[in-house]
Amino acid sequence: REKRRISIIGSGNWGSAIARIVGLNCRKLDYMVDEVKMWVFEEVLEDGRKLTDVINTEHENVKYLKGFKLPDNVVAEPDILKSTLNADYLVFVMPHQFLDRACAPLKGNLKPGAVGISLIKGFDLQPNGKVQLISELISQMLNIQVCCLMGANLAHEVASEKFCETTVGVYTDEQARIFKDIFETDTFRVSTVKDTHTVEVCGALKNIVACGAGFVDGLGYGDSTKAAVIRLGLIEMMRFAEHFYPGAKFTTFFESCGIADLVASCYGGRNRKVSEAVARTRKSMRELEKEMLDGQRLQGPATAAEVNVLLKERNLENDFPLFTTVHKICVAEVSPTEMLDCVLSHPDAR
Ligand code: NAD
Ligand code: 13P
Ligand code: CA
Repeated sequence: REKRRISIIGSGNWGSAIARIVGLNCRKLDYMVDEVKMWVFEEVLEDGRKLTDVINTEHENVKYLKGFKLPDNVVAEPDILKSTLNADYLVFVMPHQFLDRACAPLKGNLKPGAVGISLIKGFDLQPNGKVQLISELISQMLNIQVCCLMGANLAHEVASEKFCETTVGVYTDEQARIFKDIFETDTFRVSTVKDTHTVEVCGALKNIVACGAGFVDGLGYGDSTKAAVIRLGLIEMMRFAEHFYPGAKFTTFFESCGIADLVASCYGGRNRKVSEAVARTRKSMRELEKEMLDGQRLQGPATAAEVNVLLKERNLENDFPLFTTVHKICVAEVSPTEMLDCVLSHPDAR
């Protein structure tokens, strides 16, 4: 049987970290073609060089994952159609704000039977107000089945080969086997579950809670206050799943994609870090994102806004006070001090 190909669509901080793993594993696996094409949103670096050229000569994404080599079978490609030519598996990994525009050229141009896997956190908000999961958007737009991979996986820690677990949401046993082969290493342990939507909902929502954790950090509260935010956040995550994606397995919340990603993000993530700075400096979220992240993008504020559209529409804001307050702070409708008031008056805290 012909060898299979995988392409990576995106090459930011997480995209580059996962490319290291996928590149190494494709080289080892007999049934996979060694070469892994990685779509890179082309940019010219300060020294005038193109990012794709730098990646293909130095085998390092010097802008988004500095200090870590990519295996040389990972090949950067700025043309998204060329990057996905003949691919059997497609890894989607980019800030969700850019996804539908970036992937539009792929419509009708993928190999029949190709399977996607989304590592992207957030929801898709259409101009008509429709909110859906990122995997649903990709699936609909490109007419392919889309699994997801989410977990307590901070990109720099994964790249440093510090042990992490992750959760892959799949539909079939074959997908479970293949994606375990492609993503698992000694320091990156993959569990698979057939509860894809819950895995993805957890991954998206935890970024909202991470902003809340950052706000209380920035206000000067301690780890115990943050633990209250995490606890209330988890309750809202579970309530949200129950309401909008019924049928979740309870155990999925206790996989890496659930509680573990939530904890990791509330301590070590970018959403937490920038939100802390918002509460400390009272500058805007976007201004600090630009100042602090050098082109990397936050998913929490956009996700809070997308979720808020759903909650408002169904008159559910009061059932999700934490998600709602985080959104209002992100858009500077209320002050970050409201985060503590939210914890104190939360219906699940009384
Ligand atoms: P990132 O935050 O590093 O974002 C930068 C990327 O966005 C770069 O590749 C850049 O080229 C690209 N970009 C900028 N403008 C663009 C445009 N107009 N069109 C298309 N692309 C553009 O990205 P990331 O860290 O790889 O995150 C991707 C997804 O993975 C996100 O949903 C994130 O939540 C998730 N994730 C990230 C981490 C992490 O630790 N970084 C861990 C797990 C999951
Ligand atoms: P941040 O984007 O907040 O860094 O979170 C990364 C992440 O999703 C870890 O799983
Ligand atoms: Ca191989």
